[in-house]
Formats: sequence, C-alpha cells, structure tokens
Amino acid sequence: MKNKLVAIIGTGPSGLMAGTVLAENGWNVTFFDHKKAPARKFLVAGHGGFNLTNSDSISSFIEKFDEQQIKEAVTNFTNDNFRTFLEKIGVETYAGSSGKVFPIKGIKPIMVLAKWLEYLEKFDVHFQYEHKLVDFSSEQLKMESHDEVKTFSFRKIIFALGGASWSKTGSTGDWLNLFRQKNIICNSFQSSNSGVVFQSGFDLKPLEGQYIKNCKVFSNSFERLGDITITKTGLEGAPTYALNKEFRIGTCVFIDFKPTVDFDKISKTIVQSKNNTEGMRKLKLSKTSIAFLKLVLEKEQFKNPEILANSIKKLKIPFASFQPIDEVISTIGGVSFDSVLPTFELLNVSNVYCVGEMLDWDAPTGGYLIQACVASGYSAGKSIVNHS
Ligand SMILES: Cc1cc2nc3c(=O)[nH]c(=O)nc-3n(C[C@H](O)[C@H](O)[C@H](O)COP(=O)(O)OP(=O)(O)OC[C@H]3O[C@@H](n4cnc5c(N)ncnc54)[C@H](O)[C@@H]3O)c2cc1C
Repeated sequence: MKNKLVAIIGTGPSGLMAGTVLAENGWNVTFFDHKKAPARKFLVAGHGGFNLTNSDSISSFIEKFDEQQIKEAVTNFTNDNFRTFLEKIGVETYAGSSGKVFPIKGIKPIMVLAKWLEYLEKFDVHFQYEHKLVDFSSEQLKMESHDEVKTFSFRKIIFALGGASWSKTGSTGDWLNLFRQKNIICNSFQSSNSGVVFQSGFDLKPLEGQYIKNCKVFSNSFERLGDITITKTGLEGAPTYALNKEFRIGTCVFIDFKPTVDFDKISKTIVQSKNNTEGMRKLKLSKTSIAFLKLVLEKEQFKNPEILANSIKKLKIPFASFQPIDEVISTIGGVSFDSVLPTFELLNVSNVYCVGEMLDWDAPTGGYLIQACVASGYSAGKSIVNHS
C-alpha cells in the first residue's frame, strides 16, 4: 500500500474528483486544505443557482473552452459522465431550459457536498484541514499547520488549488510565486466571467440593481442575448461575462436594446414620434432601458433622433475595467499549459499534477467551469491509475 499514497491539495470539485477516481482504484488518498472545511467555493457557486454542468451536446460543449487539453479532458469525462457520477452518489439532476444542469429541487449545495464526502468515506481517504502548502518536490510535500511545518512523503501529488477570486473561500492564488520559483510557467491572474466597470463620469447609482432584459451584447465577431444588470459602477450578467475576451483585447462592445427590431423601423418610429421619449415607448423599450440611455448619452445626443436610434441598436459600452478580481466568478491565469503534460503532470516536477481552475484556461459560466474542473481532476486521477 505504501507506494499507493497520493496527496490532493485543494478540496474543490477538481481535487475531490481526482481523489474519487484514485480512491475507487485502491489508492490511499490524503486531502489537504488550508481552510477548516472543504469546497467553500463550490458551496458559494450554489448560492445563485448551482449549475453543476450543462446538457450541451459534446461538440458544442467543447467549443466553450479555449484550451485543447481541457477540451480533451471534457471529451473523456463528459457532462453525462458527471451526471451519472452524481446519480451514483445520490444526487439526481435535471437540465433547465437553458441547458444548465442543477440538482433536483430540495437538494441544496451543501447536500451535494455531503453526499460526495459520504461516498468517499467508503474508501481509504483522509482529510487534513488547516494545512497550507509551503513547498513541494517530486515526492515531498511541506505543509504548515498551526505554525508548524510538517513534511509528508507521497508517491503522487495533485494540486487542485483553484483560481484567485473569492479569496475568503480559500482560493487565494497565494501559491503562484512558489510555483514560479520552481520554473513552472505561471501567468498572472485576471478577472473572467466578470461584470464591467464604466469609465468615470457615469452615475449609475439611481439604476443600481435594475435589469435591461432581452438585449444583445455584441462586438464585430461575437454576440450574446440575455438580461444584463446595472450595477453601481457598470454592468453585469451572462451577456457581459460572455464577451469578457472582447473587452480584454480592447474590442469595442455594444448593446442592442431591441435585437428583434431592425434599425430602419427604430429610426422611423423615433423620427415620426412627437418626441424621442414617446418614440421609445412606442418601441416598447422598458423604463429601465430608457433611463439607462438617458444616463449614458449626453443630453444633446439623447435629444437627437438619429443618434438616439443608433444608440438603441448600437450603444458602445464605456468600458474602463473588469470588476475587482476578488469579486468575479472565475479567473484566468495560473499554471500555463506549456508547463503541463497531456496527463496534467508538471513537465519539470515529475509525479506532481495540476488540475482545475489553477490552470490557465477560460470558459463561460453555466456549468462549464465545474465540468472542466471535474474533468481535469478525473483525467489526472485516471492517468495515475493507468500508468502506475
Ligand atoms: C459566485 C460564484 C458562482 C459560481 N457559480 C458557478 C456555477 O454555477 N457553475 C460553475 O460551473 N461554476 C461556478 N463557479 C465557479 C466554480 O465554483 C469554480 O470554477 C470551481 O469551484 C473551481 O474548482 P477547483 O477545484 O479548481 O478550485 P476551488 O473550488 O477554488 O478549490 C480550491 C481549494 O484549494 C484550497 N487552497 C488554495 N490554496 C491553498 C494552499 N496554499 N494550501 C492549501 N489549500 C489551498 C482552497 O481552500 C480551496 O478549497 C462559481 C464561482 C463563484 C465565485
């Protein structure tokens, strides 16, 4: 048994899945986490609608990821495979109309986690909380717990340390320098699936929390329909998250407030109305959309029928920055795939693997993030099982 000792550092979905595969195959698994309890971010993900995966067809599913290795992991451990696993541990799921997959009514996020931990109890697994990563080599792990540094020996080590948002959940990204010191290529963390902050000069407070429904957010190469929420400083919601890449590379991004009505009709309605406000009402623009346009456009622009009609179809978002990294749903950055073998083992530290959000890949919300995490955990675990 001694040569089947594996350590998993990080108890989020990627670490739990890697440990599950190994435990099911006779490995003695020790999970470490610097928090007092497991999977804090996984539970936070459950607050607003727990999208465990998405029922997208696999060909469309893998298009959501920017990294080939994640596409392959998700092909090897699919959304259906994950749902089957969840069912095995007693978590029934259903797909909503948008394709997002949730636990069935009555199953709370904490219950999903409890079922998973209960399942793991059947195997040779151990949990060590309040243990913080200090150092590692091919077979050794140094962890600090209550001011004491302890050294452990393992045959395999899997890091599942997460990204760098919502640091209170434990995903602090504080391991980045340690990895860089070991010549592991790591890219700096950046916000992803983030709302946008406007340039200065816009007072959005009066509209904070209100929705612009059924709009289209678009660039010259990408578009997403849906609802956006006005924040104190800008906008958030799935359509703005989906265009994060466009904002990041400096492409102009616009809002179409009436995607189902063509420009000519909008223009004619505005021009032929008694005044612009009446025109917008005839177009059935919501009160919030009208108030938002009034707030974002200069007074003279708002009064000008031509500019107003243009803005209803194509209002440029005055992007200044993303939301602070700690507030966003996910981060890009972390360990570069240039430092990782196809098995998720580190190129220059043998026997050591990295999985989940600590790797530098990107995907939208809607279940794709957790699926990529569990799929990479599964792939690393399976590769150890098959090659050891
Ligand atoms: C508000 C919110 C909502 C979300 N909603 C969804 C959703 O609906 N669907 C979806 O797919 N995704 C969602 N996500 C994203 C998803 O939760 C994450 O992508 C996922 O949890 C990442 O899993 P992971 O296992 O890679 O890392 P994490 O879940 O971040 O776990 C990393 C673990 O490593 C531990 N750790 C970190 N550093 C150290 C260290 N130095 N020493 C020891 N332990 C350490 C942490 O304490 C933590 O337990 C959401 C995220 C947020 C913030």
